Amino acid sequence: MELIDTHCHLEAAAFVDDLDEVLSHALANGVAGMVAVGVSPADFADQCQAMAKARAVGLSAWGAFGTHPWWSDRVGVDEALAGLDRQWQSDERPIAVGEIGLDFAQSGLESDVQNALFTAQLDWAAERDLPVILHERKSADRLLYWLRRHRHAGGVVHGFTGSTQQAEVFIEQGFHIGVGGAITHPGAHRMHRMISELPLDALVLETDAPNQPGHDHRGERNLPGYLPENLASLAHLRGMEPDQLLESINRNTRQLFKGRLGYNAASNNSTEPR
Ligand SMILES: [Zn+2]
Repeated sequence: MELIDTHCHLEAAAFVDDLDEVLSHALANGVAGMVAVGVSPADFADQCQAMAKARAVGLSAWGAFGTHPWWSDRVGVDEALAGLDRQWQSDERPIAVGEIGLDFAQSGLESDVQNALFTAQLDWAAERDLPVILHERKSADRLLYWLRRHRHAGGVVHGFTGSTQQAEVFIEQGFHIGVGGAITHPGAHRMHRMISELPLDALVLETDAPNQPGHDHRGERNLPGYLPENLASLAHLRGMEPDQLLESINRNTRQLFKGRLGYNAASNNSTEPR
């Protein structure tokens, strides 16, 4: 069983005190690896250190780097792109650009500023044929507006809150839909209906740890080691055995990251052409 968490935040403050235990817990619960997702260039170094710790306990770890829309009031376009450039030249090259996107539910963020930050990073990713990891909150239509007008290499909509119709348009645009802890909530009927209607080959699994804990962990921090619970809920919803479902999910995950999961970042400079 090779279970990959496509979205977690290892450098988060919630993990600073006991990251080694958190990572060992993931391994003990059948998680083979994770994509660590960045939020701001100031945190990329901590993120890389956390990824090295993950490898030290025996997990695979890959890095997505980007500036999250919540940081759009503090990180300008130039700073965001400089951070990506630095990361691209480093030993820990991005396998995706994220977490980037638009958040129209969070107050205090200028939409023009968010749009500029998002589209600049979308273009940077497209120039390198990198998928993007999208943050979407009340912003599905605006994200789709930009995706139709900018070249891009697809990616994943993480923590998706939109409708089935909007999800289908993202899928047409070459995007996967990330399925996280929300699926474990028995009352999430609208979301259950959406996820059961979407094509299986569009779905990947994520935790967003330490955020978005599942039903059994309400009020706690979320952990990458809870990923099997999301797999079990999705298997139940789709009427499949978890092992059978995981085969499809792993195929989708490899496709999402365009074969970049096939190597370990520690040796990527020697195996991957620049
Ligand atoms: Zn996230």
